[in-house]
Amino acid sequence: MNEQTPGILLVLSAPSGAGKTTLARRLITDFPEAEFSVSFTTRKPRGVEKSGVDYHFVDTAEFRERLDRGEMVEWAEVFGHFYGTPQEVVDRARSTDGLAIFDIDVQGGSKIKAKHPDTLLVFVQPPSMEVLERRLRDRKTDAEDTIQRRLLEARAEVEKGLESYDYVIVNDDLDAAYAKLKSIVVAERCRISRSEKKA
Ligand code: ADP
Ligand code: 5GP
Repeated sequence: MNEQTPGILLVLSAPSGAGKTTLARRLITDFPEAEFSVSFTTRKPRGVEKSGVDYHFVDTAEFRERLDRGEMVEWAEVFGHFYGTPQEVVDRARSTDGLAIFDIDVQGGSKIKAKHPDTLLVFVQPPSMEVLERRLRDRKTDAEDTIQRRLLEARAEVEKGLESYDYVIVNDDLDAAYAKLKSIVVAERCRISRSEKKA
C-alpha cells in the first residue's frame, strides 16, 4: 500500500472475557514502543474506570466536535453511546516506528483496516463458550445480567471475526497464545515493505 511505514497498527478483537486485555498488557511489556489506544466514549465511567486510562470520557457535544475536527479514525454508536478511536494514536505509530494496539470490536477493526489496509486484524477466540463463561465469572467485574448479555453477543462476534480477520489465536494456554501473538508482531516487523532498507 502507498502509505506503508514501519509503524504497525494492531487490532485485537474478541468476545469480552476471551483474554485480549491480558494479552495486550504482555505485548506492552515486551515492546517498549507499543501504545495502547484509549478510545473516546460518551458513556459514563463504571466502577473504578478512570478517564484517560480506560476511556477518555466526554459529553456528546465534545465527541461531535472532535469528530468534526477529524480526530477519530473510526467511530460507532453502541447501546446508545458513541465510541471512537483517536486518530492521533494512528499518527504517532506511523511517525515513530511504533506499535499501536487497539482493543475494539470487529466492526471498529474493519473500519480502521478500510482506511489503513496494512492494519493487522487479530481475533482472540476463547477455547469454548463454557470456558468463556467461567472466565467472565472468575474475573468478578460484571453483574449477572452483563455476563448473560456478553455470552449472547459472543457467538456473533466470533462468527464476524472468523470471516473477516487476518489471524485467529485460540486463547487456551496463555503462554502459548501470547507466543503466537508475539510471533505475528515480530514477523510483521520483518516485512520488506515496512523496512527502510529497500533496494
Ligand atoms: P477481555 O479483555 O477479552 O475481556 P481479560 O483479559 O479481562 O479479557 O480476561 C478475562 C479473564 O480471563 C481474566 O480474569 C484473565 O485473567 C483470564 N484469562 C485470560 N487469558 C486466560 C487463559 N489463557 N487462561 C486462563 N485465564 C485467562
Ligand atoms: P463498553 O461500554 O462495554 O466498554 O464497550 C461497549 C462496546 O463498544 C464494546 O463492544 C467495545 O468493543 C466497543 N468499543 C469500545 N471502544 C470502541 C471504539 O473506539 N470504537 C468502536 N467502534 N467500538 C468501541
